[in-house]
Amino acid sequence: MPAHALSAADLLAETRAAIAHAAGLAGRAPETIELLAISKTRTADEIAPLIAAGHRSFGENRVQEAQSKWPALREATPDLRLHLVGQLQSNKADAAVALFDAIHSVDRPSLVEALAKAMERSGRRPACFLQVNIGEEPQKGGCAITDLPALIDFAQAAGLPLTGLMCVPPADTEAAPYFALTAKLARRHGLAGLSMGMSADYETAVMIGATHVRIGTALFGARTL
Ligand SMILES: *Cc1c(COP(=O)(O)O)cnc(C)c1O
Repeated sequence: MPAHALSAADLLAETRAAIAHAAGLAGRAPETIELLAISKTRTADEIAPLIAAGHRSFGENRVQEAQSKWPALREATPDLRLHLVGQLQSNKADAAVALFDAIHSVDRPSLVEALAKAMERSGRRPACFLQVNIGEEPQKGGCAITDLPALIDFAQAAGLPLTGLMCVPPADTEAAPYFALTAKLARRHGLAGLSMGMSADYETAVMIGATHVRIGTALFGARTL
């Protein structure tokens, strides 16, 4: 690490301060916002300093990668909380339910069914966010805005522990309108959780009501993979 580089603890403190500032502007208590350190592509050695600095909530985007890294880290620090923020194939529902405390990428009825069965089999009930394809981008995961009411009904009927909505706004455009729309949809359906905001826009997301911000680059540096 070059001498001028900020440590993981410094970056964590800076990010927490920025979240607290944005929360204060919006009249929100900073404790109502959970910072998820998105550790995809990072090694256990890169993750360890954040754990040592007291951080406990992490996010991964691939089940297999998480399975290879987290059991050992968890053994050393049992109170870690792990969130899945990437797309999930139905055939990995059992593995996801076994490993994660929350799943942010529930976006279709077949996955709702697979998760409900996996929860029944295992007795574990990770919190579920429905991902909305808020920019209606064909290449992105998430359910279409028009399909959301039916998916919410379906997930509730299946008994999923439904926590809120998650979105990833289109890249290279102003994120705020997409955050505002996601917040409006969550309010309309009585869902309290809002998983939105990444390194480039988390302060905006906090001002618009995010309850979970997903931050990788600002904590770990740029990804090379
Ligand atoms: C990688 C990722 C993030 C974190 O992105 P950064 O720009 O590195 O903060 C957040 N959410 C999802 C779904 C991701 O895949």
